[in-house]
Amino acid sequence: MLERLVAFPTVSRESNLELIDFVRAYLAGHGVESRLVHDETGTKANLYAQIGPDVPGGVVLSGHTDVVPIDGQNWTSDPFRMVERDGRLYGRGTCDMKGFDALALALVPEMLKAGLKRPIQIALSYDEEVGHRGVPSLIAALAETLPPASAVIVGEPTSMQVVTQHKGGLSLTTRVRGHEVHSSLVHTGVSAVMNAARLIEWHAERMAENRAEAQALGEDAPGAPFTPPYTTLHNGMIAGGTAANITAKDCWFTSDIRFLPGESGDHWLARYRAICARVEVAMQAVHPATGISLDIRLNAAGCREETDGEAERLARLLTGDNGAHAVSYGTEAGHFQNQGGYSVCVCGPGSIDQAHQADEYISLAQLAAGEAFMRRLIDHLCN
Ligand SMILES: [Zn+2]
Repeated sequence: MLERLVAFPTVSRESNLELIDFVRAYLAGHGVESRLVHDETGTKANLYAQIGPDVPGGVVLSGHTDVVPIDGQNWTSDPFRMVERDGRLYGRGTCDMKGFDALALALVPEMLKAGLKRPIQIALSYDEEVGHRGVPSLIAALAETLPPASAVIVGEPTSMQVVTQHKGGLSLTTRVRGHEVHSSLVHTGVSAVMNAARLIEWHAERMAENRAEAQALGEDAPGAPFTPPYTTLHNGMIAGGTAANITAKDCWFTSDIRFLPGESGDHWLARYRAICARVEVAMQAVHPATGISLDIRLNAAGCREETDGEAERLARLLTGDNGAHAVSYGTEAGHFQNQGGYSVCVCGPGSIDQAHQADEYISLAQLAAGEAFMRRLIDHLCN
């Protein structure tokens, strides 16, 4: 199953419909009806299906179908043809996260035979890697058409550890429009580059503040379970300007804000808009046709630790993992928890260290651990 899923090059910028059609036909072959939720272009779809009785209290197995690009990466073998070497299965998505998807699908015949008393709901999304664009409509459809599940397990690679908290994410592109003049007359121009620098400095200052607060509070810091234990603000890309002696007309840069689950992306966005507005006023005082605009590429809620969470209890029971794990990367668990009101945890085979890398792989041992986990889940839902 994993080999088949990897063979569909479902890089987020491409359609995922061939993979979805394959899964739909596979499930239909086992007598399982699945439903699709398309995007507005009709070129992508979420798929969900329920196996077992149509009653509340089941478990959602959540995965995404898209993978990150291979552009510029140096692969030893074809990324979309899975190969086994040294106890590892290599291929784009083996780890993040077609391994989990494949296990859920491959075990459908066993789920059907087992005599489940509560259902398993398989939920596969599109565009997770490019701003979690698919999952909101998937959650809405699930809630509308299927009986409520008691837990959601998001199978992102955690090396089968039970992750109960993750940070949220806000990804932005800021475009600064300046006014071009010869730099000898700089007082009449507006440099987009220099104003961008002021905004970038804001990110560094906020992060320094957050770090200082977390250090002062130590173990009592709200972010203490995370590494690092505070909201981080990072600018990863920038471009702008045309010549050393022209005030830059354009500059754009990216922001990547990973905030603690108790904070909100909207709040960070409001704070950032406020500084943008102040900088813009100063720019427009020199030349009115200048300005700052923002593209929001991702605004995804974090995942909070639940009190007596059913998903956590279940995953601990099935894995035997009693550690407390909080991660700084985002997943769709935050959406299931915040939008859908589900109890959630993140638990899946493979290590996040291999995700998005050249020569991405999942070890056979991790895949076997994931398989054992799903078999125990099936047994559990039969009791
Ligand atoms: Zn992923």
